[in-house]
Amino acid sequence: MELNERQEQILEIVKESGPITGEQIAEKLSLTRATLRPDLAILTMSGFLDARPRVGYYYTGKTGGQLFNERMKKLTVKEFQSIPVVVNESASVYDAICTMFLEDVGTLFVVNKQAHLVGILSRKDLLRASMGKQDLESVPISIIMTRMPNVTTCKPSDSMLEVANKLINKQIDGLPVVREVEDNGTVNHEVIGRLTKTNVTKAFVYIANDDIHT
Ligand code: ADP
Repeated sequence: MELNERQEQILEIVKESGPITGEQIAEKLSLTRATLRPDLAILTMSGFLDARPRVGYYYTGKTGGQLFNERMKKLTVKEFQSIPVVVNESASVYDAICTMFLEDVGTLFVVNKQAHLVGILSRKDLLRASMGKQDLESVPISIIMTRMPNVTTCKPSDSMLEVANKLINKQIDGLPVVREVEDNGTVNHEVIGRLTKTNVTKAFVYIANDDIHT
């Protein structure tokens, strides 16, 4: 986030003279305490400054990177997830290609009759399957998909930072957001959302544009 000129001045004063009260900062800037209130609120909410009752404001010393990291950790999957697009495991490669185009997504989640997650299909999985001479309508997706338990998933309560790390480490574009359901002692996964690199980019832009007023 970008600080305005007055916020930069306040930051300098607190760095030099903190802990310092709001009243004293206002005096140094020849302004009233009330005028400074919104700027002080922004500086404390964004983590640059901290305040203790009867002591005053002090500089936290946190770098922009540390503050970004803290805010990214607080954002959760459920705030940014998109609607999932699923296909049944009995669908053909041809059907899956059509769905991918019609739904305008890069990753399809494959489910069984019970609507439990059984696999995942990416654009390249479908391209690879299309390179041979097979009839795409007769090739079932279940033989080309990446299947459970090898599918990396996430939960609505996971942090966006955690998910971003998974996407990078596994070199994948998206993850199904799942809820665990237990059937006769076996744990299955219901797909309730989709979290892709686009959602991570949106979270990044959200933090960058967030002026704390909202
Ligand atoms: P693309 O193949 O279009 O570059 P990805 O990088 O997402 O897209 O997929 C690469 C491979 O990883 C594919 O074979 C795909 O099936 C698999 N894959 C994609 N997402 C996941 C996931 N969440 N968990 C496990 N494997 C995945």
